Amino acid sequence: MNVELHVPARETPNVAGTVCPACGGVDLEIFFRLADLPTNCIALSKTREAALNVAKGTIELGFCRHCGVVTNVAFDPSKLGYDPSYDNSLHFSPSFQKYADGLAVQLVRQYNLRGKSIIEVGCGNAEFLSLICGLGGNRGIGFDPAFIPGRADLTAGQGITIVRDYYSERHAEYKADFVICRHVLEHVPTPQEFLRTMRGVLADNHHAAIFFEIPDASFVFQNKGIWDVIYEHCFYYSAGAFARLFSTCGFDVQNVSSTFNGQYLCLEGRVSSNETGTLGDKGGNLNSMREDVRKFADDYDSSLHYWDGVLRHLSEEGKRVVLWGAGAKGAMFLNAFRNAGLLEYVVDVNPHKHGLYIPGTGQQVVSPEFLTQYCPNAILIANPNYRDEISRQLSALGIMPDLVSI
Ligand SMILES: [Zn+2]
Repeated sequence: MNVELHVPARETPNVAGTVCPACGGVDLEIFFRLADLPTNCIALSKTREAALNVAKGTIELGFCRHCGVVTNVAFDPSKLGYDPSYDNSLHFSPSFQKYADGLAVQLVRQYNLRGKSIIEVGCGNAEFLSLICGLGGNRGIGFDPAFIPGRADLTAGQGITIVRDYYSERHAEYKADFVICRHVLEHVPTPQEFLRTMRGVLADNHHAAIFFEIPDASFVFQNKGIWDVIYEHCFYYSAGAFARLFSTCGFDVQNVSSTFNGQYLCLEGRVSSNETGTLGDKGGNLNSMREDVRKFADDYDSSLHYWDGVLRHLSEEGKRVVLWGAGAKGAMFLNAFRNAGLLEYVVDVNPHKHGLYIPGTGQQVVSPEFLTQYCPNAILIANPNYRDEISRQLSALGIMPDLVSI
């Protein structure tokens, strides 16, 4: 097997004077670099050729000793666009749907969301918003330039209005009792501006509450989620950095919790009557994050060499192997092992991804049913949270390959 390992450059450039785009501080410590990666690892391509020729960019991560965020200092927002090819829906997975259902029920109950106006910023195809509206008879306003019609019931509750645009001051006429924003903030290059705009729009309604969900940077940099380092994420927030950002932008932080087996962080808050909100004990310890990021480059290298060995072994044994999960983790794994001819196909449960190709490496995405013809010996699982679900689907298909979580 001819594998080209994507080993990061070891030298960490001196970027004294580089400004943290989250807080404006000049105390960034650069700790990791990866070049030549797809800038949009979730947008699948229509042909293999297009997939092999997608736009590429550099990831160069810095830790801000002032506010605790990790940021990609090489991030160029002009390289990214979110249109309907950005199909990040996980709702075809029963495990994810169960998580989303449980979260919707919890929020409706906890915040008495009945007959209320709910804004969701970055609503995707409005799957979650339609759940919340249906459960509580609410009115929904969803913002997303990548919205694809027909995936969710827009008549749920008192109906959902979709604005196919980014959320900004231009849309200040839309008022809300509750604002939901899931897996968006890590993509926003100017988070303070974004949150202050939101605070301004909500300021007339002192009862308005907010709910934000993001990937947990501690999970990523404690070497549990190395494939979650992607170009699209210009920021990575630990619990402490997440809470500090909101209080800086005038929100009282009420709760920060870990969900989805440690992979996600959820923050609940309200508009503060002061310019700087209350933080309570939610500010966390930024030093532990600093320790995590200092070990990360070595951990990443070790993981690459481990997986290189596994793939070589499987190849030498003549095994047939597929990867399950055509999302960010799967694409980043494949891009770390370019020319890994062993992996020809990627399985995904989202039927809208079938027949498309992985950016950067060009594997075709196939349905689980395809495996009954292909008969793989082993399946690499992109996200271990779906392992039981995958195992059940394989049993139903009558095939029993080895399952290995990446
Ligand atoms: Zn900072």
